[in-house]
Amino acid sequence: MFNPMSLRKKYGLVAVVWIVILVAILVTNSFLPPLVKENFELYEPYEYSQMYLENESYRELIIEYDHVQGREPSREAMDLLEKRVEEYTSKEVVVSKIDETIPFTENLNKIYDEDDISDYQDRYRSHQREDETIVIHVLYLDGVWKENERALGLARRPSSIVIFKDVINSLVLDSNLGSEDVEQAVLVHEFGHLLSLVGVGYESEHEDLNNPHHCDESEGDCVMAASVEVKGGDYDQEAPPNDFCHLCRNDLEYIRGKEEPFGFVYMITYAVMAGEVMIGAVMSVTVIFWKKRGDTKKNTTDHYELPPYEVKDRHIEGEEIPRREACDHTDYDHYDQDEYERM
Ligand SMILES: [Zn+2]
Ligand SMILES: [Zn+2]
Repeated sequence: MFNPMSLRKKYGLVAVVWIVILVAILVTNSFLPPLVKENFELYEPYEYSQMYLENESYRELIIEYDHVQGREPSREAMDLLEKRVEEYTSKEVVVSKIDETIPFTENLNKIYDEDDISDYQDRYRSHQREDETIVIHVLYLDGVWKENERALGLARRPSSIVIFKDVINSLVLDSNLGSEDVEQAVLVHEFGHLLSLVGVGYESEHEDLNNPHHCDESEGDCVMAASVEVKGGDYDQEAPPNDFCHLCRNDLEYIRGKEEPFGFVYMITYAVMAGEVMIGAVMSVTVIFWKKRGDTKKNTTDHYELPPYEVKDRHIEGEEIPRREACDHTDYDHYDQDEYERM
């Protein structure tokens, strides 16, 4: 009897098809969104911030410093940034590296525009995000930023910081502060912007309305305030704040736990998964129908393949075996199968 066997086979095959489809769906769901985002740079700002805050995807953070000759980062500033990274992220390994020295151009009034900065970053940045490592690139320049000559630093999301060391030096020139006091604050401030502070891609109640993406310091001093105030003369002042206020720390916790809203990347992912389900359905139908036709054909073949020796066994010497007997037997077998099929 062939039908019970083929039924089992049929359903077995369909089960295998759906197991394969299920695995494909799981793989698509976990690997397609990051693949699409990675290749088309479709990460939201807070998603990059999460890469810094969490340890899951990248357990090591390299902070690479490249600087124009004579504009080295101060040890105090580098140490403080490393300390803040350790305080606010879950990174297992944090490495600060002074990488390359950019030749001094002797142009004291050097003015950098966006293209100049991009060009320097392309030429001097040696480390990229890969495997388990994420990178923050810090560029120390002489001169000023074209858009705002009073700018002390810039955050260029997702992973670059620019520090205008000459502007910092000139700011503290007539004060009791050391340039490292301001440099530390600027470095941590720009790092805060890479972490999406304040209100980059999310709503923050303490965002400074006059200076977007900065802290209004409504509950105390904060490194994310829009400006650094330095008084000249003999005035005995404290170094500018170089830590996040508790409201900004709450924001960091919010950013860390922020879930991805349904967007373009998920539309693509769900479309691919729907396609996989369709393939599964088409394959199942094909298996079911193909098997049915195959069964009928197979039975017919079996019906005619009655072994000749069976006839021989029944042969009594001197007696002519009627060929019909074999046919009867075969017919019966065939009939039996028909009965089964009708059940
Ligand atoms: Zn800022
Ligand atoms: Zn703040």
